[in-house]
Amino acid sequence: MKIDLTGKSAIVTGSTGGIGYAIAKGLAGTGASVVVNGRTQAKADAAAAAITKAVPGSTVRGVAADVSTAEGCAALAKAVPDIDILINNAGIFEPKAFFDIPDADWTRFFEVNVMSGVRLSRTYMPGMLKRNWGRIVFISSESGLNIPSEMIHYGTTKTAQLAVSRGLAEMTKGTAVTVNSVLPGPTMSEGVETFVKDLAKQNGQSLEEAASQFVKQHRSTSLIQRFATVDEIANMVVYVSSKEASVTNGAALRAEGGIVQTIA
Ligand code: NAD
Repeated sequence: MKIDLTGKSAIVTGSTGGIGYAIAKGLAGTGASVVVNGRTQAKADAAAAAITKAVPGSTVRGVAADVSTAEGCAALAKAVPDIDILINNAGIFEPKAFFDIPDADWTRFFEVNVMSGVRLSRTYMPGMLKRNWGRIVFISSESGLNIPSEMIHYGTTKTAQLAVSRGLAEMTKGTAVTVNSVLPGPTMSEGVETFVKDLAKQNGQSLEEAASQFVKQHRSTSLIQRFATVDEIANMVVYVSSKEASVTNGAALRAEGGIVQTIA
């Protein structure tokens, strides 16, 4: 199978680093024209330039917008009025004991992790339905199924994304638009690397030792017993964004190394 998205346009939110960057690079490699998004123009431009270098001949541009706010989403919609493929990737996480999580954190997590995707789907999905082709992918998490006790607020937003995604898929009946979510497990993105480096420092370990211990301790059911790479997650996202993934709709697709032990 050769995935060819020539002629299609895509936005990946929060794609100046981490999983989002890998997805943007992967989509650029299929011939899609890609909008990279971050909160500053300098970072978005730098990421777009890096992808153009890695994928010669690709069409990539950076658009700065804070997708956690209504104003930011409106600015993105103004800069990019139409899109064929929307990847709702921007997201934040932070381990914090439930009793220490104030309302402000709950609201912030909901704004970044859920409302960004809600607002942008409201903006872009009508055009997809009208043109009778489109792909929306929510980057959720296995934490949306196995709620981690060390960050219940994060897990809750990841479950909410699954609900929004499935609800939107119901609106695509009889069309060639699909809405799915992808559920990564622990993945060595920049954000997570910082977190693991802190753990390593605290415990006097190397990054590799700390990563291995984290999986054994906190994700003991993992079948791969390691962190995924950002490219391994991007592979799944690029596939579900492809024309070939035409009968996968309303699905919660796991790319989490088998942590979740249920069969379906
Ligand atoms: P990351 O922190 O490495 O990268 C996130 C990117 O989003 C950064 O480039 C950041 O600048 C950008 N961003 C953050 N807030 C933004 C905002 N308001 N507007 C625009 N851009 C913003 O994160 P990651 O680990 O690559 O995670 C990406 C997605 O994957 C998130 O939704 C996360 O919940 C999900 N996920 C990650 C893991 C993991 O282990 N890395 C596991 C499961 C799910």
